[in-house]
Amino acid sequence: MNKTDKIIAQARKENRKALLESEAKTICMECGISVPKFQIAANEKEAAKIAEGIGYPIVAKIVSPEIIHKSDAGGVKVNLKNATEVIEAFKTIIANAKKYNAKANIVGVLIQEMAPAGTEVIVGAIKDPQFGQTVMFGLGGIFVEVLKDVNFKVAPITLDEAKEMITGLKAYPLLKGYRNTPAADIDALAQILVKVAKLVMDYPEIKELDLNPIMAYAKGAATVDARIILE
Ligand code: ADP
Ligand code: MG
Repeated sequence: MNKTDKIIAQARKENRKALLESEAKTICMECGISVPKFQIAANEKEAAKIAEGIGYPIVAKIVSPEIIHKSDAGGVKVNLKNATEVIEAFKTIIANAKKYNAKANIVGVLIQEMAPAGTEVIVGAIKDPQFGQTVMFGLGGIFVEVLKDVNFKVAPITLDEAKEMITGLKAYPLLKGYRNTPAADIDALAQILVKVAKLVMDYPEIKELDLNPIMAYAKGAATVDARIILE
């Protein structure tokens, strides 16, 4: 059994459909998608120790099977610059989570490396009732939510097809580089799409997947949030 099999088996055993961010990111790592370093802290002392090991700045996030949209619950603190700030964030995140949902099981707080700012893009997958596993690509924020500027393709996909999904967006010029913004690494983003398509084909029990956002850089990309929902 590989790590992905184990994580899915464990979720099934606990009757959970939503994987934790840490679980979804471990699955990403296993299929070769790079994510910032992370570790779950059970208490504030551990949070500070993990942060010292990773290095600053740090991002801290709630880990709870009942809290899927972490920001909505006041469960995300970014740009923490030292141990004192990490400890403060730990306390605030736990308090916010309890306020948001008194019944939520709190596993801990995910302490992670803060990725440098980049162009935010989204890779998703859904299981279409008619076409089966389908992957999606779009730019972050208003581009997806307001302008619906996204492209879909039925999995599996080739690297060339992945590139077409990216270059075919209306907002593609933003990725090609403009003014002082360097061009994003289209190849790295296309590789992620191909890997996600393969993952959802290999694991038909994945009903939904969301890498939102991925920070795209001139060289490479960092997947800073990952969500996987099982059937
Ligand atoms: P949510 O569950 O609300 O989607 P996210 O994990 O996406 O939570 O975090 C909210 C926002 O915080 C992200 O959209 C991103 O802008 C920022 N963020 C989260 N994790 C990181 C990270 N490791 N490095 C840099 N920015 C991050
Ligand atoms: Mg997110």
